[in-house]
Amino acid sequence: TEAEARYVATNPVSRAAYEAATASLPGGNTRSVLHWEPYPLWISSAAGYTLRDADGHAYVDLLGEYSAGLYGHSNPVLQAAITETVQRGLSYGGPHAAETRLAALIRERFRSIEHIRFTNSGTEANLMALAAAKAFTGRYRGKVVVFEGAYHGGVFVFPFGCKDVWRAKGAAEKSKYAALRALNAPHEFLVATYNDIASVDALVSEDGGDGIAAILLEPMLGSGGGVCATPEFLAHLRRRADELGALLIFDEVMTSRMYAGGGVQSELHIYPDLTTLGKYFGGGMSFGAFGGRRDAMALFDPRAPGALPHAGTFNNNVLTMNVGAAGLENVFTPEKARALHELGNEVRDKINSLDKDGDAGKRRLRVLGCGSILVIHFTKTRTEDIVSPANWIVDEDPRLLDLFHLEMLNEGFYLARRGYASLNLALLEHEGRKELDRFVEAVSRFGVKF
Ligand code: PLP
Repeated sequence: TEAEARYVATNPVSRAAYEAATASLPGGNTRSVLHWEPYPLWISSAAGYTLRDADGHAYVDLLGEYSAGLYGHSNPVLQAAITETVQRGLSYGGPHAAETRLAALIRERFRSIEHIRFTNSGTEANLMALAAAKAFTGRYRGKVVVFEGAYHGGVFVFPFGCKDVWRAKGAAEKSKYAALRALNAPHEFLVATYNDIASVDALVSEDGGDGIAAILLEPMLGSGGGVCATPEFLAHLRRRADELGALLIFDEVMTSRMYAGGGVQSELHIYPDLTTLGKYFGGGMSFGAFGGRRDAMALFDPRAPGALPHAGTFNNNVLTMNVGAAGLENVFTPEKARALHELGNEVRDKINSLDKDGDAGKRRLRVLGCGSILVIHFTKTRTEDIVSPANWIVDEDPRLLDLFHLEMLNEGFYLARRGYASLNLALLEHEGRKELDRFVEAVSRFGVKF
């Protein structure tokens, strides 16, 4: 395509870097999601909301490191905390004040989190939360209810289309999904349909209902396209989990930034037994956490006989704890969280009102997501119908997303190949808002072509 030819012509240094990298790394990097065709950009530096690539171009960073980059790239409060930490030492091998401070700050925002423990990633947080659910319920062979389209980390991948295959046994398993099962953590998963109460009830009753240790879900399918759970669905899962004696776990790794920064649970007042967190809470350093009911988290109290050990050299690393606490205390206040949430809603509304539903059958650009997380799709389904599982998101032609992505890069906007964007705080400033208006215009120009 013309867009690809322009991309290749203007990014020779990235191309050479990519080719050199493939000598040591399969596909040229260590995160599958960062690959796209013909090759990804090599990033050389970043400041505020701007990324610079190896060929010297500047991009408005709309990816926001899949939401971990909430603070932007050069927040002075975080930079000061980093410098101060470096001067006091990075790894103590002992408990320290910043660890307590970060824990307390998170508890203030998430009232369902009575006790919390830190990990190095969201993936690890989910591994620990599931172990806790099994131990707490005593259902060591218990099953875990998850949802099609969910992503809970590199070992919890449940793409659309996997549901029936997951249930099939032996030969019926297509090899692609058999490999996926091998990749995933070795729990017995029951894969239900998101926002579909009946699908959960059917699975649970088929199973007899007493072998379920946990229901794990994202209050918004992040990786799965930005579909929000309906409040009725979440409330139903809350009741079901109680009836089953299973733990309800909200993976708010992606959604914790929503509303006033207390995640979806604090806005809807539907509280899980355990919550998992990740991304921006470490101020840009690697981070994960799981927490919730005091009685369940007491499993990890080393003073208790038979306590579950929870290890991880870098769980309480000083840099993550100190920078993360500075960010929550002084930068990402509840007011800032609301402002960012509103900014995201404004951008979404502007794009969604570029062309109106009504011209039936036309494939349209639609932005899903919530607040500052925006996910772009090309679909014939009307926006208000998308939450219904009967109309599941269909990116009818994925090549359109590829083309959209390359065109946006050529226009100076960096977002994920699959249309995902998460806004950072630097974009709240006047200049940032102007860039977002420019983005809406670029999207509008693209939309007109199709
Ligand atoms: N859970 C959700 C909802 C996520 O979006 C992610 C990462 O994108 C994870 C878990 C995994 O977090 P991490 O990449 O820190 O392991």
